[in-house]
Amino acid sequence: MRVFNFAAGPAALPLEVLEQVGAELTDWQSGGMSVMEISHRSKAFIAVAEEAESDLRDLLAIPASYKVLFLQGGASGQFAAIPLNLAAADSTVDYVNTGNWSKKALTEAKRYCAQVNVVADAAADGYNSVPDESLWKRSGNAAYLHYTPNETIGGVAFPHIPQSDAVPLVADYSSSILSGPLDVSRFGLIYAGAQKNIGPSGLCVVIVREDLLGKARTITPSIWDYRQMAADGSMSNTPPTFSWYMAGLVFKWLKRQGGLAAMGARNLDKAEALYAAIDGSGFYRNPVRPNCRSIMNVPFTLLKPELDKAFLAAAKEAGLTNLEGHRSVGGMRASIYNAMPPEGVAALISFMQEFERRHG
Ligand SMILES: *Cc1c(COP(=O)(O)O)cnc(C)c1O
Repeated sequence: MRVFNFAAGPAALPLEVLEQVGAELTDWQSGGMSVMEISHRSKAFIAVAEEAESDLRDLLAIPASYKVLFLQGGASGQFAAIPLNLAAADSTVDYVNTGNWSKKALTEAKRYCAQVNVVADAAADGYNSVPDESLWKRSGNAAYLHYTPNETIGGVAFPHIPQSDAVPLVADYSSSILSGPLDVSRFGLIYAGAQKNIGPSGLCVVIVREDLLGKARTITPSIWDYRQMAADGSMSNTPPTFSWYMAGLVFKWLKRQGGLAAMGARNLDKAEALYAAIDGSGFYRNPVRPNCRSIMNVPFTLLKPELDKAFLAAAKEAGLTNLEGHRSVGGMRASIYNAMPPEGVAALISFMQEFERRHG
């Protein structure tokens, strides 16, 4: 029996995709082997890789002037690769700090850049909002401006894309890529670890504007040199073939769902229903400012934290799993990525209401 899995990442994958993987696992394309057991340089795998890229380009309407890279090392690897590719050691780089992941990104950047300028820090508000853009203290000469559109742990999302005219905008879309339509042309670089909304872990997708290639420092690991990887079709070395293949199946599934406009509407409905249940309860609480609430990660606390363990145990019993909040914040968190069907959110809401009736 499948449960409704609210894990933040690695996260639930679409059942249809898992069933296809299962059906073709041992004998893929009648070759008598699994896709994991063939060369990444074989014709068959190159076709898988190219089709995945082309489907992702369709879904996000990625302009031809952008390269799409399928890299390893996760989003955390990009925390280092970005300054190494886009900034010199004596460059100034701008970062917005809206929580746990942006903090990690800027901390890593400090190893590679003399000047990491934090343009705004949401600490004063307990990281429950996005600081007003008109108050950001941007440096005049930044190599790029980095931000985290969706803070996976705090459940804080930017209500819109920041303005950044000449300075390339760099965004960590790990937990919100493909959650709805996105204007890629606003960005210099978008990156996303796969294990939330793309596929299994082991893969990090980087979408980078061509004019930003070729600036890597000589010490940059060649597997993270964007120009090199673009030239090699992301195959300077062996890529994570199985993750890439599965990401491709997820892209096809998204297309069958109606693409990102349809997914965006469905995700908004799911999130609105869950926030309405939380706000309407008096028993559950979400601390994030309403205009900055994530539609992918919904943290909430119980009025009586002594009931946390009972809540989690009863939820698990009801087939609703992985609802515990991140170890750094406690409480609960429901991650409701693309693969979480509306019925899963409806089941969670019913469960929460029933739990409140019994314990409220
Ligand atoms: C999960 C996550 C990361 C870390 O991803 P790894 O692939 O584990 O390095 C970074 N940023 C955000 C926003 C995330 O959600």
